[in-house]
Amino acid sequence: MHSIDFLPWEDSFDCGLPAVDAQHRHLVQMINALASHVAFRTDVPQLDAMFDELAGYAVYHFQTEESVWYEYLAGDEDEANHRQAHESFVDQVQRLRAEQSSPSTTRAAERTLAFLASWLISHILKGDRYMAGVVLALRAGLGREQARQQAGARMAKESRLLADLVPSFNATRTTNALHLISEVTELRRAQAELKRESEKNQALLRSASDGVHVLDSRGNIVEVSDSFCAMLGCSRAEVLGSNIARWDTRYVPDEGRPAWRPDATSTQRRLVRSVYRRKDGSLIDVDVNGVPLTIESQTLYFYSARDVSALVEMESVLKRQAEFTNCLVEAMGDGIGVCHDTATPPYVRFTVWNPAMQKLTGYSLSDVNEVGWQCALPVEEARREEARLRAERMRYGDHLRGEEWTIRSGSGERRTLQVHTTFVQPPGGGLHVLLVLRDISARKAAELLVQQQRDLAQFYLDTVQSLMLALDSEGRITMINRAGRELLGYTGDELLGRYWFTTCLPQDKGIKHSLPLFRRVIAGELKANLAGEDMVICRDGSQRLIGWKTAPLIDDAGHIVGTLSSGADITERRAAEEELERYRTHLEVLVGQRTLELSAAKEAAETANRAKSDFLSSMSHELRTPMNAIIGFAQMLEYDGELNANQRDSVQEILKASRHLLDLINEVLDLSRIESGRIELSLEATNVAAVVDDCRHLVEPLAAPYGIVLVTDVPDGTWVTADRVRLKQALLNLLSNAVKYNREQGRIHLVAQARQSDGGPRISISVADTGIGIAAERLNAVFQPFTRLVGEQSEIEGTGIGLTITQRLIELMGGEIGAESELGVGSRFWIDLPSAGVARHDDPSNVSLGARTQALAASDERRVLCIDDNPSNLKLMTQILGRRTNLRLLAAHAPHLGIELALAHRPHLILLDINMPGMDGYQVLAILRHEPLTRRTPVIAITANALARDIERGRAARFRDYIIKPIDVTAFLRVVEDALQDQP
Ligand code: ADP
Repeated sequence: MHSIDFLPWEDSFDCGLPAVDAQHRHLVQMINALASHVAFRTDVPQLDAMFDELAGYAVYHFQTEESVWYEYLAGDEDEANHRQAHESFVDQVQRLRAEQSSPSTTRAAERTLAFLASWLISHILKGDRYMAGVVLALRAGLGREQARQQAGARMAKESRLLADLVPSFNATRTTNALHLISEVTELRRAQAELKRESEKNQALLRSASDGVHVLDSRGNIVEVSDSFCAMLGCSRAEVLGSNIARWDTRYVPDEGRPAWRPDATSTQRRLVRSVYRRKDGSLIDVDVNGVPLTIESQTLYFYSARDVSALVEMESVLKRQAEFTNCLVEAMGDGIGVCHDTATPPYVRFTVWNPAMQKLTGYSLSDVNEVGWQCALPVEEARREEARLRAERMRYGDHLRGEEWTIRSGSGERRTLQVHTTFVQPPGGGLHVLLVLRDISARKAAELLVQQQRDLAQFYLDTVQSLMLALDSEGRITMINRAGRELLGYTGDELLGRYWFTTCLPQDKGIKHSLPLFRRVIAGELKANLAGEDMVICRDGSQRLIGWKTAPLIDDAGHIVGTLSSGADITERRAAEEELERYRTHLEVLVGQRTLELSAAKEAAETANRAKSDFLSSMSHELRTPMNAIIGFAQMLEYDGELNANQRDSVQEILKASRHLLDLINEVLDLSRIESGRIELSLEATNVAAVVDDCRHLVEPLAAPYGIVLVTDVPDGTWVTADRVRLKQALLNLLSNAVKYNREQGRIHLVAQARQSDGGPRISISVADTGIGIAAERLNAVFQPFTRLVGEQSEIEGTGIGLTITQRLIELMGGEIGAESELGVGSRFWIDLPSAGVARHDDPSNVSLGARTQALAASDERRVLCIDDNPSNLKLMTQILGRRTNLRLLAAHAPHLGIELALAHRPHLILLDINMPGMDGYQVLAILRHEPLTRRTPVIAITANALARDIERGRAARFRDYIIKPIDVTAFLRVVEDALQDQP
């Protein structure tokens, strides 16, 4: 604090009594101090205390001084006056203070001080110095009066000194006054400065970026910065005067000093975190800095609030992140440790060592820090030194990136760890190493298993003779088996990872042809097994042709990840095929030539065949006509009753020889027709019983002379699909053989049976006899043409081609024929035909021939017209039919005559020759059919035209029947009777 020398003390002021002088000095010091307080406006309480102290000390001093005076001058007038002066001083001081309001104002103190100064100077310099002079004289032995005189004389002598002292004293006071003025001036300047400073501060305060707010002791705002208003979202007017409770959510009114209010006695700033409520109710986090300041005895609280919402949010995020990271580290399956170097063993100290790490190693954080990482992670012997050196290199900035160390864990288990390290800078600073250990033992074991499986698969693949090739989706070789490597002449290492299409295929084909196909497989466009061929280039430059089958390789997720191909070296095969192809082409040319030749030969053969047929046809016609005449006249002679026995025998011989010749001609003709394919068959549902019945009537007369019995067993409704006439022919042949080669009193058994075959229902008709039988080794020969097992001298007539024709006919009708026989016991011939499966009860053939003959005999006269240009034939007809009693024969040797007779007599039946001069039989028929009178008259053709096409033409022309010359009289008569019977 500043001080001023309000009452300067000089040594000459001493009165000569040390105890009194010391008190005087002390008293003057106290007055000076009080003056300084007044001058510099010390706090009122301090000033009051000073006054009290001074007053107290003055009383004490007066008592000390008075006791000295009393000791030497008791009862003396001076001593009494002096004491009175003391008392008036104390009274005056108390009065002056009491006049003013308490506590003392500075103004009252100033007046009191002025009084003290003037009183003390006059009292000390005058009164006390005189009294001290008296006491000193008395002590020197003088009497009271002398002592008074001596003291009076000294005071007079020293009056000059005092006169000098007063100006000096006043000068001092003037100096002090000037000093005061200067102090006051300085004070005012300071005040002005303070004011400016205050205004500046206020401006600064208002514009402060932080929310500055100044509170009084009750928490009301007395000053505020704009930023604080903005912080609360209020106007300045709304904020000024408002109470802290309005915005500070942490404010709790308190009896004592509110928590928010800093201690007024402390100059320490106080930082607190609070939450302020804005006008709109939203909350913001703030850091509040408060400091108290007492101005003119009033304490104000200066606060500066900073919006730290973002910071708080950030801190919260960081905290959460830290917690999260901690949790993560704790929960991580991977072992995580953070360490740094230390100066003392074990030289590496871990600060983080998560539970997974403990599980992996069996060591806790404290354990590892005690025993060291090399002990906690005992790398297998073989790689221990390498691991140590690798770890050592971390000091030079090197890192472990996925290296695999195998350790023995605390429990003795063998584990394979993948080790990663990196540098980290923890919040506390310094450089630490983050160590991450991943237990890949299971993966390693699985990889080992997979490798074993792969080796096994490779072993299998290597044992396969085919080439096995796997490509990845880019076309790189991922697997090739031994056969593939050997063929190409590379080792596996040389091929694996290389592009197949550029390495092993010719440039043009590989890229242009095979690669696009491969890409389509990878794109999933070709899913099925793709077959193809590639020429591959071997290491030695040779080329081989490989036939491939390629399928896409699909992973678990269903994605195509490559292809798998199996291939075979088809170089040789292809060469052989090409050779074969050349041969084939050559052969085709040869075959073509041969075919042409054969075709020409066939053509020639067919031409020859046609010539043969034509020859046979004409020959047959030529042979038949005379045979017809021979037989016909022989038959007539047979019926002539005028012949003698020899003539009859001759006639019989003629007939026998003629018939045999005719049979031979017919059968040869028949066989030649069949074999030349000229036979026409009419396959239809045929009633077997009816056909058998017909045969029976024809065969029984043959069998009867030998006492042979024919038994037939044909169930009703047995129908076959066959040509009726040809079936009859076949059965007749078998039955006539059964008669011919039977024994006397023998037996023939015809049985028809249905059976089921793969091709459908069939009918088997067998003819068994009890005859001479056939040796087993010759059984098949009987179907060969002109084979006769009986000796040529045998009396049994035969041509040796009946069975041949029968076999051909049955086969043409879709049937089969066979035989079984036992020499001397009998034979059984059977035919097998497709069943027609239906019964036809309305079939007219069901009516037996006998019944029809009887009917004819019972009817009225019948007229039969015979038109034939050949007189022999006409004569034969007349002889055959002329014997019938109820039949009248009309004969016409020319066609037109025949037509006239027909129209005139309206015959019941017309027998018409075909080959006639002028008009053939067909033309005559056409006219007859045209005429109403003869339209319905049955016409039977009798002709030597025996070829199939003639017969077919005859049928188409709607003849009732077509009889081929030479005629069989019996059969002819039956046909005639049938025709006549149908007529009304
Ligand atoms: P053919 O009877 O006119 O001689 P086939 O062709 O009908 O001619 O018969 C050929 C031969 O088969 C006959 O000559 C005969 O030796 C033998 N043969 C045919 N049928 C029988 C049978 N039922 N019993 C014994 N032998 C037979």
